[in-house]
Amino acid sequence: MTGEPQDDCLFCKIVAGQIPATIVRETDTTVAFRDINPQAPTHVLVIPKAHHVDAAALATAAPELAADVLRETQVIADEEKLDSYRIVFNTGSGAGQTVWHAHAHVLGGRGLQWPPG
Ligand code: 5GP
Ligand code: ZN
Repeated sequence: MTGEPQDDCLFCKIVAGQIPATIVRETDTTVAFRDINPQAPTHVLVIPKAHHVDAAALATAAPELAADVLRETQVIADEEKLDSYRIVFNTGSGAGQTVWHAHAHVLGGRGLQWPPG
């Protein structure tokens, strides 16, 4: 059920502390941690603690929580001293989504090409 922890979900396990991660910030509703395979000098993932499969499912089921995630991206950018940054929600395997727990990639610290690949 959406919102409930999933036994087979990597990010639910990070939320539960069952898998280690380099956590940079935590709130009542969100966790931010460094991506294990960084694509930029700053590459932080911001996730809701509750399990939702992707950004749209999160926004539909829990819009205030989706807003929490978005606000946290700016807090991370400020803490990382990023003037500019990119927020990415890969959605669907064809777009590179590999973890089915909504997450915002916060990328910065280098020039970012547009359009992305
Ligand atoms: P997606 O490909 O679904 O948009 O993003 C998933 C991200 O999670 C990838 O950038 C990947 O590097 C990251 N990732 C996968 N496994 C782990 C892990 O165990 N720990 C951390 N910190 N990041 C992970
Ligand atoms: Zn999950």
